[in-house]
Amino acid sequence: MATSFDPVLREKLLNRRHTLQRSITGLSPGAKVIDLLQQVDQALERMDSGTYGLCQVCHDAIEPERLAADPLACFCLDHLTPADQRALEHDLRLARQIQSGLLPKADSRFGPWEIAYHYQPAGLVSGDYCDVVDAADRGLYFMLGDVSGKGIAAAMLTANLHALFRALISAGLPLGELVTQASRAFCETTLSTHYATLVCGHARAAGEVELCNAGHLPCLHIHGGGLAEVASTGLPLGMFCSQEFALSRVHLRPGESLLLYTDGLTEAEDSSGTAYGVERLRRLATDCGAEPKILMGACRKDLDRFRGTAALSDDLTLMAVSRAF
Ligand SMILES: [Zn+2]
Repeated sequence: MATSFDPVLREKLLNRRHTLQRSITGLSPGAKVIDLLQQVDQALERMDSGTYGLCQVCHDAIEPERLAADPLACFCLDHLTPADQRALEHDLRLARQIQSGLLPKADSRFGPWEIAYHYQPAGLVSGDYCDVVDAADRGLYFMLGDVSGKGIAAAMLTANLHALFRALISAGLPLGELVTQASRAFCETTLSTHYATLVCGHARAAGEVELCNAGHLPCLHIHGGGLAEVASTGLPLGMFCSQEFALSRVHLRPGESLLLYTDGLTEAEDSSGTAYGVERLRRLATDCGAEPKILMGACRKDLDRFRGTAALSDDLTLMAVSRAF
């Protein structure tokens, strides 16, 4: 199969070759520079022979985003050399560290509010978004969401959401306006194929909680008498650049909680392919009560029991927000 490539790229590579050649004229170039020159020459040859952009092992197309980042790439992800594999793994581990550095403090207390969460990527990085922002006398904001897609691209978008929401919260916007602006910015800066479902909550001292559920799974309000669902009131974030978001209001009495989760929980499967489901979560939340840390522990234990040896196939995030007094 011959590949098509942007003719401008050939020009760019030729220019790069000339620059390299010029920079070593009259010098005795090191082995690395000679090697790089050879790689550029080989890429030009591949362009002339119609094999540019194809993996040299399996002859399938190299991932376009990798080729754009490195026009000299000769192997698909599956057939990287051991050294390249190590470099990629190193990058991923660094990305994981950066992502965990963006997570809120575990098991925190903010005035009357207590928050516990569990964040578990299926791979090295996660496409789930989870944050808590204490805006002092303006109350407490909590966010939990799920970016479409997986891997590094989704993880980068979670970092984008993290920065966007933090900036907009500090501007003191009302919740509906905050989510509308975050959605617009997210829409304008991401690929049209990406969006995020999320719940953004704003809790105030008297137990009032405003919730914006943008296309996400229902939150569970755990109260003395049982459970109530706070369902989605709109489309996911970033679907269209001008979107408005409706809000729900919930009053939490002391000892009551809200439970938020991603589909990494409800769509987790056991070894026979059966999904965990919202019903099982409702029963568990009813039995175990509203204490955030106990709730997190019980959810994780029940999911492990349910899954058995089946692997976690999607990123998992759980968050419980409770009013202590
Ligand atoms: Zn390959």
